[in-house]
Amino acid sequence: MDKPEIAEVLDTHSGSYLRAQDVIGSDYAALVQLRSQAKAAHFKDQPLYRCSTCLTPVFICARKDGQKFFFKHSHEDGSCPAVTRSALSQDEIDARKYNGVKESQAHLQMKDWLEACLKADPRFSLVNKEARWAGRLTGEWRKPDVSAVYEGVRVAFEIQLTTTYLDVIVKRREFYLQEGGLIFWVFASFDNEHRRLTEDDVFYNNNQNAFIVNPGTVKESLEQKRLMLECVWQAPTADGSHGALRRQRVAFDQLTLDQATQRAYFFDYEGAKEQLSAARSSEVQALQDEIDAWWDRKRDEDAPPQETWTKFAPRLRKLGLQAPFSFRDVDQVLLTALYSAKHGRPWGQRKNLLVEVAHHLAMKDRDRFVWFMHAVKRYGREYEMAHEGDEMKWAAKLVRAKADYRADRLQFEPKRTSQALAEFLFPELCPFP
Ligand SMILES: [Zn+2]
Repeated sequence: MDKPEIAEVLDTHSGSYLRAQDVIGSDYAALVQLRSQAKAAHFKDQPLYRCSTCLTPVFICARKDGQKFFFKHSHEDGSCPAVTRSALSQDEIDARKYNGVKESQAHLQMKDWLEACLKADPRFSLVNKEARWAGRLTGEWRKPDVSAVYEGVRVAFEIQLTTTYLDVIVKRREFYLQEGGLIFWVFASFDNEHRRLTEDDVFYNNNQNAFIVNPGTVKESLEQKRLMLECVWQAPTADGSHGALRRQRVAFDQLTLDQATQRAYFFDYEGAKEQLSAARSSEVQALQDEIDAWWDRKRDEDAPPQETWTKFAPRLRKLGLQAPFSFRDVDQVLLTALYSAKHGRPWGQRKNLLVEVAHHLAMKDRDRFVWFMHAVKRYGREYEMAHEGDEMKWAAKLVRAKADYRADRLQFEPKRTSQALAEFLFPELCPFP
């Protein structure tokens, strides 16, 4: 009977999972070499590959005709769920895979390094590799890669070589939180690729700080008798985009440890983001006020409006608004109409009454009339405006405008060239009809 082939294997050196067909590849000569290397390693009891499901060492075999290669368990007792085709839950698969990674040489190396660095640093006590951490409240227990006590807090150091086991990560965080301990994740490397993979994982749950142990940090830690780490972090950007990753060698004793949120960080991303957003809101407010005041005053200024606008445009753009650099491209009729509705009198225009603005728009600039009337209502100016000047004249004008609207809506379709600017300057009018 044909045994089902093993589809995925664990590379015991790197701790990564690979598709069997990718390891086998299509280079015959390379495969033959790899096959004998794997055999030799197996005899030294250091198998290169294991079955991803049961972690039994695997061999590369060839079919009798020598045309096809595949992976086979080194001893086949029929118990591997991949062979018996028993269904494992995703949780079981993840837990098995996670354990497999822990047996990789890369993982063992990281564990030894961490232990050595912690033992060299007098700030830590009770440094233990793989010590059982039994829950005080529940029967649960964990075996962190390395544990130690730092300033009275028990810290579980967990090495994270792969980034795909979110459930395992989440469960661990809950356990240590409940136990009054702190989990501290350690990476072997961290780059943009890791950041992509760890979205919502360790990085994003740790105030966007990740810590790396590598030969450089180990050397410095042992020399200084102080646990040194490479910190990779991200600073928030004004426009909310992904910033570049920053890196710096830092000492563990420089970090902020937050037991309640199970976070340890060097750079306070959340704090910086709050500051940035507070600064942004006050700049938004300042610009709204300044442009509002200037709009009415600009008639009396000797300098052309473009001169002042040249100062506003870059500030608006810095806030992410695509404001035109040329004042001619700003819909001045629209802004004058909206400001007039807001202030209850013509604003930036030589007229006396708000209803005069209304008369003009209802006849001449109908593509701003709908938004103007929307603003008049929103600012509660409807009644006041209807009683300005010749009441009958405006009432008649409104009836006529409404009839025209019913007959041909198109001429009333709002001109939207400055819509984004209007939404920014008049947030209380959003959404614009
Ligand atoms: Zn297996």
